[in-house]
Amino acid sequence: MVNKKLQILLYFSIYSLLGIMLGGHVVFADETTDLAQVVSIQTIGDSNNTEALNRLLALKQTQTSSTPIRVRLETLKVLADLYYDASQITSSTATVHELLSLATAEKDATGIAIAEIMSVNQLIDSGKPQEGLNKLQAISENLPSDAAIEVRMRLEHAFGFVNHLLGNFDTSLRYMLEALKLSDDLPTRKVQNRLIMLDAIARVYISMKDPAKALSTVVDALDISPLAQAPKILASLSNSQGVAYSFLGQHDKSIEAYKRALKISHDTGMATNEMSCLINISDHYLILNQYKQAETYARQALERAERVADKSTIDLARVNLGFALVGLGKMSQGVELVNAAIHDLMESGQKTDAEDIIAELANAYERAGMFKEALATLRQQQQLNSELFSAERSKAVATLQEQFNAKQKQKQIELLAKDNALKDAHIRNHRLQQAITLLGATVTVMVGMFIFLLYRRGQRVNKQLREANAQLEFHAVHDPLTGLYNRRSFVERMHLRTAEIEAERREVRDGNPDCLILLDIDHFKQINDTWGHAAGDTVLADVAQRLRKTVRDTDMVLRWGGEEFLVYAPKSNPDQIAILVERLLQSVGGTGIAIGEHQIQVTMTAGFISLPFSGFPEDQFNWEKAIHIADMALYLGKRNGRNRAYGVARVLVDAASAVPFFEDDLAAAVSAGIVELTEVMGPPKIDFSHAM
Ligand code: GH3
Ligand code: MG
Ligand code: MG
Repeated sequence: MVNKKLQILLYFSIYSLLGIMLGGHVVFADETTDLAQVVSIQTIGDSNNTEALNRLLALKQTQTSSTPIRVRLETLKVLADLYYDASQITSSTATVHELLSLATAEKDATGIAIAEIMSVNQLIDSGKPQEGLNKLQAISENLPSDAAIEVRMRLEHAFGFVNHLLGNFDTSLRYMLEALKLSDDLPTRKVQNRLIMLDAIARVYISMKDPAKALSTVVDALDISPLAQAPKILASLSNSQGVAYSFLGQHDKSIEAYKRALKISHDTGMATNEMSCLINISDHYLILNQYKQAETYARQALERAERVADKSTIDLARVNLGFALVGLGKMSQGVELVNAAIHDLMESGQKTDAEDIIAELANAYERAGMFKEALATLRQQQQLNSELFSAERSKAVATLQEQFNAKQKQKQIELLAKDNALKDAHIRNHRLQQAITLLGATVTVMVGMFIFLLYRRGQRVNKQLREANAQLEFHAVHDPLTGLYNRRSFVERMHLRTAEIEAERREVRDGNPDCLILLDIDHFKQINDTWGHAAGDTVLADVAQRLRKTVRDTDMVLRWGGEEFLVYAPKSNPDQIAILVERLLQSVGGTGIAIGEHQIQVTMTAGFISLPFSGFPEDQFNWEKAIHIADMALYLGKRNGRNRAYGVARVLVDAASAVPFFEDDLAAAVSAGIVELTEVMGPPKIDFSHAM
């Protein structure tokens, strides 16, 4: 299953920073040779995990309490990594515990920090990424300021990893980039770690639906990979490359990369990556409707996973096997397998995974023409979905969820229509049915725990819908720098809104208008000029976060352009709008933004407006007009001194003819008493002179 594919794909995880040296203290002479021994075993591990594992276990046997502490710590750390890659998770976990107790007993801060960072993986594996994040936060707070580069890099990477799982892709990317930067300063294993970071970054890009960028990142990594001589990392990179190609629809290249990854994983004894490849390959064949092949690889994955009792991979393999069997016409056998996996996932609280699989099952029913079953399954999924929605989720996830729900609704209507059509016609036109099946597109859209759903092989009867979905799939909805939605997704949202309004027109409107707030950073050029473009980017990302945190889950924040943002707050209480705008200005300008060691105050100017506007029907005054007016109000704010917002409250003359007038010159319309403006002031100037 795709969702899990993402997880598996990500497995490379916190452990696999193929160990750098622990500690940063004085090295004693007898330590040096012992340490060199560990490092050389580690290097063997780059190309033969099994061999390295055996040798390191033998070395560990010879160690006693008089062995230098750094050597013992280093041994345990490398051992935990090797176990993990061999998919011996229990042993790996036990080794991390051993590392932690030894480091604690010896009061070795670096060892403690590394063991704690590694142990976050267990929280993640048991489906508690949020707790993982909290733990990392705690580790980070206690980290001494002189912590070794490797500790800091591991921490950044772990933050990136957990944020990725939580669906905070922009944040994840920023952490990963930071880890990448730190890898440059490592005393040893620089290239290896650089490759691992690039791999992690590529995976974030995949989640951001930017497979092209993912691919170019992987290619960059592959270019320098000969320097590392680490087939193990190559295997993981090739696996990512396969996924990127798959998303780009280049299935030949995708399978080529997967198979290369599979072979290397096998040769290097990387059981975890090997299983991941097998799953991805069976997925590949499912996408291409080549069910026999899909079955073969899913069975292999299942067999491997059962051997190491890896529960989540077992479920994953069962799901793929189940769908392969369904594809081969063994409906009941396949569904049974899939349901068993769903049951397992529900038991272990992995509801989001279960949800994805249920959606997939609905698709399978749909393909088989069993529309009633498809509908029932879809309802089951929606119920689960709303349960998930009510659970505590990150804001980014919540907003995506909103979009997802809208899509699901559309799909349900579509299915109902199909079911009715089926009843009416009673397969009067069997050929038409066949044509429908043929037309059904193979649409691959991901959503996830971390939100990404694959409407893989979802059928679309009508060409238009198919195209709309293909667009959704291929055009990223996110702005990569800030992680916010981009303009395109807003326009899409506005189209949905128009449809909603049509539907609501027949029901009672709650009277609360939708609010549009356009915000532009003041003197942003100066920030770029003074601190550099990269600092400018940091400011943009920070501003984005602050805005996102200020609004409701159901509000949409997007990057409108360079340093302009748009907040779309549907169904807002008119009395609260000015307060919201003030909070937004405050959230950005009220506290300093860090640029390196410096703090600067960044203020914004905004224009806002409600829709429907001043009683105008929307066919006379639509969202595009509203944005235009908000932009004029913003401009007025700039002219009047910045760090403020103007809201166009209402038109004071009772005539639609007023619109063209103030559309041209808002300032003139204000002085002529045609429109009323609300003014909201930004925060006062901050004095940073006392801060360091
Ligand atoms: P004003 O207060 O009038 O808005 O002044 P300003 O300097 O913010 O306005 P202006 O529109 O002249 O400058 C916007 C600048 O934003 C120009 C452009 O180089 C910069 N910019 C646009 N996109 C990005 C980006 O992605 N990163 C960075 N660092 N700068 C960007
Ligand atoms: Mg601007
Ligand atoms: Mg500006």
